[in-house]
Amino acid sequence: MNPNSVITKAMNFAAQKHADQRRKGAKQEPYFNHVAEVAWLLAEHTGGQDAELIAAGLLHDTIEDTATTHAELVREFGQNIADIVMEVSDDKSLPKQERKRLQVEHAPHKSDKARLVKIADKTANLRAILESPPDGWGEERKREYFIWAKAVVDGCRGLNQGLEDGFDTLYKRGMSAFTPKI
Ligand code: ZN
Repeated sequence: MNPNSVITKAMNFAAQKHADQRRKGAKQEPYFNHVAEVAWLLAEHTGGQDAELIAAGLLHDTIEDTATTHAELVREFGQNIADIVMEVSDDKSLPKQERKRLQVEHAPHKSDKARLVKIADKTANLRAILESPPDGWGEERKREYFIWAKAVVDGCRGLNQGLEDGFDTLYKRGMSAFTPKI
């Protein structure tokens, strides 16, 4: 498929699948804003040459957070893109804490593209928490999220310095804001 076609098809697919979902932040942004940011981060830090990666960024939450199946993604976007999305999807049948633990444990064993999507996803989440935190999230909860996100990202390092630097900048900003000054 032509690169522009695959990216815009993924954009349209994600927009429709997430149409009724909002982010947890106080601003209640459309969920699509999150996947658009992830796709842009991936394009920005990889020279925009990998349409499969950018499309996977747009689609990265469709299996986990909508009724989309892996088979549907294979049919619409081919095996490679579908497999990246599958790799970054939690098994929703497991309890939340177990899913979070497995993300850290599995991160170093993921494919290169899945690891890049993971870093971009966590970067977008940190920015969202800094700019529009979910209702009821105190400093401690934010701090815990940041520490967990860094543990996942630490398992994904070594592929793209710009993407890692973007994550690390937000991580440091958050931790200096949340950690009580001594
Ligand atoms: Zn996401």
